[in-house]
Amino acid sequence: MNVYDSHRMAVILENFGYEPAANQADADLVLFNTCHIREKAAEKVFSDLGRAYLIKQERAEKGQNTVIGVTGCVVQAEDEEIAKRAPYVDFALGPLTYHRLPEILTKIGRKRGETIIDTDFPAEAKFDFLPENRSEGGCSFLAVQEGCNNFCTYCVVPYTRGAEYSRPVAEVVDEAKHLLETGTLEINLLGQNVNSYHGEDESGKERNLAYLLRRLAELDGLKRLRYTTSYPADVDDDLIACHRDLGQLMPYLHLPVQSGADKILKAMNRRHDRKLYLEVIEKLKKANDKLRFSSDFIVGFPGESDEDFNKTLSLVREVEYIQAFSFKYSRRPGTPAAVMPGQVEEKVKKERLDILQNLLFDYQTKFNESCIGKVFEVLFEQKGRHKGQLIGRTPYMQNLHAKADKNMLNNIVKVRVTDATTNSLSGEVI
Ligand code: SAH
Ligand code: SF4
Repeated sequence: MNVYDSHRMAVILENFGYEPAANQADADLVLFNTCHIREKAAEKVFSDLGRAYLIKQERAEKGQNTVIGVTGCVVQAEDEEIAKRAPYVDFALGPLTYHRLPEILTKIGRKRGETIIDTDFPAEAKFDFLPENRSEGGCSFLAVQEGCNNFCTYCVVPYTRGAEYSRPVAEVVDEAKHLLETGTLEINLLGQNVNSYHGEDESGKERNLAYLLRRLAELDGLKRLRYTTSYPADVDDDLIACHRDLGQLMPYLHLPVQSGADKILKAMNRRHDRKLYLEVIEKLKKANDKLRFSSDFIVGFPGESDEDFNKTLSLVREVEYIQAFSFKYSRRPGTPAAVMPGQVEEKVKKERLDILQNLLFDYQTKFNESCIGKVFEVLFEQKGRHKGQLIGRTPYMQNLHAKADKNMLNNIVKVRVTDATTNSLSGEVI
């Protein structure tokens, strides 16, 4: 979501006369788009700001002015902290107000020396005020839903991104058309809880994500569709049917489970237990037997015993995820889990994370190796490290590099896989 927001901010700034600087020392404006999901991400902001301030001072000695801005969820949660710890910051905008960038930059131009903070949960939808989106390459994100009403007990998102909001169908279709006209082949629909999408269609009727996917699949030029992140309890039969019916929908689904133990899922306030989660996976596989899964995991949630943790490991063995993100539980101020009894020691969290990641890597490696000899359609997205090499993604989101002509960049090309490691594939264009 932050990658998407950053791109939309870049488009706002380009329309406003800015262009990307070659390096930070050349930048008149330095903007940090921040994440508050775990403590480590949030703390990083302050060290990055410290470094930017040094550059700002060096530039000032040469008579150059530098505006430093912060956007994103850290601002929403820690605006006062920013003003206190980094008073040299010129402005700070929450994730729902970055459409006001031009207005804020104009204000700063007139009035220097104080931090302008805007952390509204505004009544207007920022999407109504953003300039037309355009593609950056063959793959584009498209936010269709934002915010969350689930209140998992460990998570800051409902507090930083606010209540759930779905963009109207017509607006999404329109943005998709612009992306396709400017070179996009693959669209990845985004939302904190994307499958709870319930935007209004042209007649004012509420529609679900399945409807939206079907509408988008009709658009000329759309080769690939994905959506992320889904909440397991909100996967309905309509959505499952899309995985059977829509050729553009890629056979890879990110379906975060967090834990394999019902006791922990309950304490997390997740609306699914292990059984429901596995039933959803089974139904999806029945609809499309090519479908494979990835997930998010949290280890060391308050109260998690060895036995609970082992249930997470057994779930991994059952589902055989082909990729995953796993994290040590991070205590977030203001969330219910932060004050729960049974906080797990750092050392235990670390041990559990290592064990879990080793197991996940085994399955990932096994899957990647099983791809050797197969032919995949690969969407090349960037240049590789070596000359004449491009890097792209398979339908399963694996990174693949191959020797390829540079005009294959941002195109879909058939590639035979020749080699595999845990993190990537290599192949030959055929
Ligand atoms: N809406 C998505 C997840 C969004 S946050 C969902 O419900 O699945 C992305 C991931 O960050 C989560 O899936 C979770 O695994 C992780 N996460 C969120 N809060 C966390 C915390 N306090 N500590 C550790 N990991 C956390
Ligand atoms: Fe956070 Fe996802 Fe839970 Fe919402 S559903 S509270 S975004 S983890």
